[in-house]
Amino acid sequence: MSQQLARAAGTGGSVVVDQCQVCGKRDLESVLFLGYLPPVNQMRTIGERPHEQPSYPAEVLHCSKCQLVQIGLIVDPAILFPPEYPYTSGTTRILRENFAELERESTLLLNLTGKELVVDIGSNDGTLLQNFHAAGHPVCGVEPTLMANLANQRGIRSIMSFFGPEAAARVVDECGKAGVVTATNVFAHIEGIHDIVKSVLALLADDGVFITESHYLIALIETLQYDTIYHEHLRHYSLESMQFLLNMHGLEVIHTKRIPTHGGSIRVYAARRGARKVMPTVQQVFAEERAGGPVSDRLKAFKRHVAMSKVQLHALLKDLLGRGSHIYGVGAPSRASTLISYVGLDREILDCVVEVKDSYKVGKYMPGTLVPVVDEARLFEDQPEFALLLSWHIADELIPKLRQRGFKGQYLVPLPEPHIVSAI
Ligand SMILES: [Zn+2]
Repeated sequence: MSQQLARAAGTGGSVVVDQCQVCGKRDLESVLFLGYLPPVNQMRTIGERPHEQPSYPAEVLHCSKCQLVQIGLIVDPAILFPPEYPYTSGTTRILRENFAELERESTLLLNLTGKELVVDIGSNDGTLLQNFHAAGHPVCGVEPTLMANLANQRGIRSIMSFFGPEAAARVVDECGKAGVVTATNVFAHIEGIHDIVKSVLALLADDGVFITESHYLIALIETLQYDTIYHEHLRHYSLESMQFLLNMHGLEVIHTKRIPTHGGSIRVYAARRGARKVMPTVQQVFAEERAGGPVSDRLKAFKRHVAMSKVQLHALLKDLLGRGSHIYGVGAPSRASTLISYVGLDREILDCVVEVKDSYKVGKYMPGTLVPVVDEARLFEDQPEFALLLSWHIADELIPKLRQRGFKGQYLVPLPEPHIVSAI
């Protein structure tokens, strides 16, 4: 019984993954268990007494057939993305630069003329499409949240809908077939991945190209980003598993490269088999993947390193707290919740987590803890001895900024090797 059928049959809101989401293989290998994690977007208001709250097992599974790495439980999307879920644009500088570069690269590589329709899946406030719009392309976004309205107000045509067969048919109906379909940082999140790829195919012109960007499994392994494991991320792709999925639908990878977004992602171009020339980058990235050895071996080492990083961080914290130091967390992205839960950082260790003033998270507790999220002004007013960087993957960008804004303390970088960066 497929996962969708299992859910429809009323076997519960969440679905245990007992077969690979891509190839259907059973007997998946359990490679890591991070314990039970609370949903990252369920944050209680400060002052509220703790009460019943769900937690879900964060087990990571590996498929030896297609090499997909995947979460072991698909949590009911109604719980992960409740209607009141405060979506934000998330358009950081790195992302904006990345989208501009995507437009330049695809225009060059695909010889785009500016006439091709470009469709973005999960188009948010239209930031990605804005680049193609400026280059003269007709564009259409598909976005399930109110951000679609914002995009429309900015002149980026957007349909407010989840992406699937109906949304694809509507786009074709209203705008025609697409020369380019993009899906950035959504391809790992949507359940029923085969329906999504089929819907992309329905949308693509014969020589159309599908461009997807996803957090890259190899980056996750290399820099120990276990904190990107949470229930919104159903799958973690390598080029090999991505290609396996695309090949199942008659698509082939024609170009790929690693990109810096989200701590290390991979951009993959795919077209109908034989429709486009395959570029040498595909073999290059494959060769690099293979040079690292079999994924199952790398995951075994990863598991050991994850456990070691936890005890090393504890040792460091023991030393700092033993000296009476105060530690503030900086930033409350989703990944912070995994790290805090797995390492076990509560109020006696972290005084608080600071966030930008207008973040909806200010005034709440970090999920599953009594660590308050407060306005970042507190960091500069209180000057604690240490700032724990919870967005450690952009530490190089964050540290100079915090220094410039007047933070005089030291920085605790939790991963991949817990270490302290001293103030200069
Ligand atoms: Zn598989």
